[in-house]
Amino acid sequence: MNPFPNGMVWIFQGQAYQPLGTREYVGRSGEAVTLIDWTSDCAECGNEFPVSTTLRFEYPNRRCDDCKKPRVRVRRRASKVKP
Ligand SMILES: [Zn+2]
Repeated sequence: MNPFPNGMVWIFQGQAYQPLGTREYVGRSGEAVTLIDWTSDCAECGNEFPVSTTLRFEYPNRRCDDCKKPRVRVRRRASKVKP
């Protein structure tokens, strides 16, 4: 079931996320949390990829699985190059 209005898009740091629906997820603690499933365009290759977040929308994936760089975050501004 999709509780979100058709065509709704959430913009996070310039990246568009379209909600598909919500689902219950039971974590290791046994506590049930509600996750939101989204679809977005990868910040790297532009391909559509699935994203899940909590209701608080914290730290959503910016890249698809193919472009995943676990320790590299998408930056809004160019970062200083380390020597
Ligand atoms: Zn990608």
